[in-house]
Amino acid sequence: MPKEGSTEAPIRHPIDFKNPDFLNPEKLDAEMRRVFDICHGCRRCFNLCDSFPKLFDLIDNSKEENIESVSSDKFPVVADACTLCDMCFMTKCPYVPPHEFNLDFPHLILRYRTLQKKKNKLLTIPNQLAKIDRNARIGVIFSRIINWFSNIKNKLLRSLLELVTGIDKRVELPKYNFETFTNYFKKNKYPTNNNAPGKNRKVVIYSTCFVNFNKKNTGIAALKVLKKKWCRSTKCLSGMLWYAFF
Ligand code: SF4
Ligand code: SF4
Repeated sequence: MPKEGSTEAPIRHPIDFKNPDFLNPEKLDAEMRRVFDICHGCRRCFNLCDSFPKLFDLIDNSKEENIESVSSDKFPVVADACTLCDMCFMTKCPYVPPHEFNLDFPHLILRYRTLQKKKNKLLTIPNQLAKIDRNARIGVIFSRIINWFSNIKNKLLRSLLELVTGIDKRVELPKYNFETFTNYFKKNKYPTNNNAPGKNRKVVIYSTCFVNFNKKNTGIAALKVLKKKWCRSTKCLSGMLWYAFF
């Protein structure tokens, strides 16, 4: 009896990138067809992002209104619209493992992109925009001019940016910090709070690139709270999680 997914935490299988089939174009195509077909029947993620509406339109407008009548050269429309936010896997999909469908849409797109990269077929502009560490370091160094340039009120320059990069001129872009959170952390040693309730515990802050480059004040606020309430000493690392206690 298949188990209904999403009634418990999803199981995330590691990406099977060492498997020789991982970058096999035929196997990948077959897996994309399998997943797209399930999604077309489900449609639960219709409002999560651009990928799903594009997928549903692609199949609905095909000759037989099924995945078999969609040519694989149309798949990039769906895959390129995915921002890998992980929402479909983490919050919506009832077919994630342990369900027997074993569906992981974001990992499928990662697999697709890995193959595109190997074939040197990744789209140039999104590929360059995705180099966050490099771009954001430049953004922090030239924050004043870049924040002015990217301001939504700066209509002419934003139209130009839209033309070159495809970034919609109506989108409010995050501002860059004048310094990274990591740098702020190194410069500002908070004194140990010996009266803190968790004074014998240590904490590591994983600042995330967004806080590090764009929202330093969020990190500073967290530092203040942690110093007051919890910890004896603090280390700062970049990464995905906010903080971990020892
Ligand atoms: S991971 Fe991709 S497909 Fe899934 S919700 Fe996010 S953008 Fe959409
Ligand atoms: S990812 Fe899951 S929930 Fe979303 S449309 Fe596909 S099958 Fe449905």
